Amino acid sequence: MSVLVFIELEDGKIKKSSREAIAYGAAIGEVTALALGSASNDELASAGENGATRVLHVADERLNAGLIQPFAEVISSVFASSGASILVTAKSSLADAVVGRVAVKSGASLASNVSALPDTSNGFVVKQSIYTGKATANMSLTSDKKILAIKKNAIELKTGGATASVEATSVSLDDAWFGAKIISSEKAEGDVLLPEADIVVSGGRGLKGPENWGMIEDLAKTLGAATGCSKPVSDMDWRPHHEHVGQTGVKVSPTLYIAVGISGAIQHLAGVNSSKYIVVINKDADAPFFKAADYGIVGDAFEVLPKLNEALKKALA
Ligand SMILES: Cc1cc2nc3c(=O)[nH]c(=O)nc-3n(C[C@H](O)[C@H](O)[C@H](O)COP(=O)(O)OP(=O)(O)OC[C@H]3O[C@@H](n4cnc5c(N)ncnc54)[C@H](O)[C@@H]3O)c2cc1C
Repeated sequence: MSVLVFIELEDGKIKKSSREAIAYGAAIGEVTALALGSASNDELASAGENGATRVLHVADERLNAGLIQPFAEVISSVFASSGASILVTAKSSLADAVVGRVAVKSGASLASNVSALPDTSNGFVVKQSIYTGKATANMSLTSDKKILAIKKNAIELKTGGATASVEATSVSLDDAWFGAKIISSEKAEGDVLLPEADIVVSGGRGLKGPENWGMIEDLAKTLGAATGCSKPVSDMDWRPHHEHVGQTGVKVSPTLYIAVGISGAIQHLAGVNSSKYIVVINKDADAPFFKAADYGIVGDAFEVLPKLNEALKKALA
């Protein structure tokens, strides 16, 4: 089965979630990946490590801005010409906006937030994560062409494959597709950005005040993690709003989410419950967050965090 995987680039690098999408595609067929915008040949060839055999590269710089309409047009065109019956992408806000349009143009059936490999024993059935990860739906895709947007952490990242061949591909771009332009942008500060982070250390009202955030930042630094917080913390301006995690903030899907002094209200959990592992540190053994945790430490954050940080520093040295 021939599978086309759309890979998202950030500053010319393949996003980790897109590498997972390649690994997902490789588990069901032979993967051709598609990259739009500027990236080096070496970077694109590294898609082979995750299971792609070749990468089609439409390098036009106008695609660097990640605009929805040109992406939908180019992906639809390549999906039609590639002979692939399945298009796979990582679920993201860009992919959500793009693949719906591609599905309409291609007459494909679409499943988003897919959390497991398809069951092909009787048709083509995928599991979709719904209700912010609290439930799953089995969806049967019956059309010849199918589009799957894969939830982060749905599949083990495959590495160690060969390098992929990279082919420059030209698609004629219509100026009319570029009617919307990003004229300026501001990036959140920090070495590791929250939505893409593999590890997040997040603090809540239990930390008592912004002056105590050094403990969170130290632990984040040790682990190469991004920092997050609960809504009241950002509402009180203890932390910037782009760190607010939850239903009304950033939704994260890291491999590891460490919640410190956060009670675990349902609105906070809605933003974190697709994390692979959740560690909760709270002095109240009855804090609701412990029910969602894989590991928990009942203790005072002001005692636990410095000790945990020292132990991790030693272990990781
Ligand atoms: C419409 C709506 C949308 C919302 N959206 C969001 C959202 O997106 N994200 C979000 O986070 N919230 C959201 N909320 C708010 C949410 O309901 C909670 O009020 C909020 O998550 C609580 O934040 P918190 O856990 O930091 O504070 P608290 O509920 O005050 O909990 C603090 C926790 O810290 C623990 N603690 C105290 N001292 C220590 C210590 N020394 N060591 C260890 N633990 C300690 C306490 O035991 C407690 O569990 C929303 C609410 C509404 C109504």
